[in-house]
Amino acid sequence: MNIILMGPPGAGKGTQAEYIVQQFQIPHISTGDAFRLAMKEKTDLGLKAQEFVNKGLYVPDEITNGIVKERLQQPDCANGFLLDGFPRTISQADALTAMLDEMDKKLELALNIKVDRALLLARLTGRRICKECGATYHVIFNPPAQEGTCDKCAGELYQRSDDTEEKVGTRLDEYISKTTPLLQYYQDAGILKEVDGERDIDKVKLDIYELIRGQSI
Ligand code: ADP
Ligand code: ADP
Ligand code: ZN
Repeated sequence: MNIILMGPPGAGKGTQAEYIVQQFQIPHISTGDAFRLAMKEKTDLGLKAQEFVNKGLYVPDEITNGIVKERLQQPDCANGFLLDGFPRTISQADALTAMLDEMDKKLELALNIKVDRALLLARLTGRRICKECGATYHVIFNPPAQEGTCDKCAGELYQRSDDTEEKVGTRLDEYISKTTPLLQYYQDAGILKEVDGERDIDKVKLDIYELIRGQSI
């Protein structure tokens, strides 16, 4: 299955992606994770990306498209992939279509996790991430058994520097102006499916599971 996972910052894309890739055995490609790794390692890509990421702005399309193109050509994407947080602009969506055409592939599902803005602020400011394995938690909605420590690998949890109230506002504005038009784009392409992301993590997980299974039969 070739799937893209959409939704505003804090919708639960990363959380659900962890389950989807386990269940369906496809690689998880997150542009946000790729930028954070490059920033941590201070590569050329990281240095270019950080001035945008740190302000809560989208990284320019040419930079973002390049990393996705390279990643999709890796052999582990042969039987499908889950793109999380890409595309986020119409121009990225067009670039993705062109990349896939070149590889004789096509998108089968654009899965949108719907959550109202009011809830996103609480989700994002309470988000914590494992330094070692990248697992996502929430201080109230999805706390680890022991505060500050990952259940899966005992790694230390941290808060992303762009998960502050101030940056979240900018990120949500970017999403509304640049990404919401994509919903119509994939609706017109006939592959948009939506789930209610305001329910419990396990309920959302089940909805997504059934949608993907229904799609692949
Ligand atoms: P995204 O990747 O879309 O930005 P995340 O998966 O990182 O979103 O989720 C944002 C925050 O909300 C995390 O702290 C996560 O634990 C929490 N979260 C995710 N899904 C739910 C849900 N269905 N209900 C409550 N909290 C959730
Ligand atoms: P979120 O939790 O907001 O969904 P991500 O972790 O996916 O965030 O992305 C973090 C940051 O990386 C974004 O705020 C943006 O600066 C950058 N980024 C990620 N994906 C893209 C993309 N497709 N286009 C442009 N910038 C992106
Ligand atoms: Zn961990």
